[in-house]
Amino acid sequence: MEKGVVIFTGHGSPMNAIGDNKARKGWQDLGKSLPKPKVIIAISAHWTTDKLYVRRANDNPQVFDMYGFPQELYEVKYEPTSSIEYADKVLDLLKGKAEINNEWGIDHGIWSILANMYPEADIPVVMISTNIDADPQLQFEVGEKLKSLRQEGATIFASGNVVHNLRMVDWDNQNGYKWADIFDETIKQAILNRNFDKPINFKAIENYELAIPSLEHYYPLLSALGAVEEDDKITVFNDYRELGSMSMTSYLFKNN
Ligand code: ZN
Repeated sequence: MEKGVVIFTGHGSPMNAIGDNKARKGWQDLGKSLPKPKVIIAISAHWTTDKLYVRRANDNPQVFDMYGFPQELYEVKYEPTSSIEYADKVLDLLKGKAEINNEWGIDHGIWSILANMYPEADIPVVMISTNIDADPQLQFEVGEKLKSLRQEGATIFASGNVVHNLRMVDWDNQNGYKWADIFDETIKQAILNRNFDKPINFKAIENYELAIPSLEHYYPLLSALGAVEEDDKITVFNDYRELGSMSMTSYLFKNN
């Protein structure tokens, strides 16, 4: 049994799920480079809640939680099974901090990436929400509590964006605003130096209000960091900004 990895991916525009683009290529390459996990524990920016929820079911209805995009995007089918066995393990590890909620399924923050990493949809995915009422330390602890599942071959998969400001999106900008580049780079250097206190205390970083005007896309990063172990090798991929105010920078933490 190969030990499970930890992944944080920036997902950006839903359109990254299809067609020819850098993000998609990065996801396809990542899927091919990794051993197949037994199960994926997915922490989603798009299941934004005011409590911590876990879906406990055998299925994952696909949620098309994006509007006004080309029809082609709504034709992507991705409905991997879930796992009650692993949902119970997650609930057990998060004891008292999480509740069962089956009102959501697999949303585009998760399926846009997994459909490219694991197109056969043959790995069970257990969905976890992002509780934006939690403080950053608690969000980190979600990952810490789930870390032991990696020993059983579970991948901890978190999807959001380090920098995500929809109000400032510029569809004609292929790159990032200067403040977005600097914020993203600051977080990256802290992660590479294993200084996880810095991303937890993001409010001390200049321009955080621009980079993180709301918490839901940033918080999955903290849960991913919580599941990292000292001997994990850190790989950065899809390291770029797009649409001005969106960072795609993504991280793989793998023990070997
Ligand atoms: Zn999103």
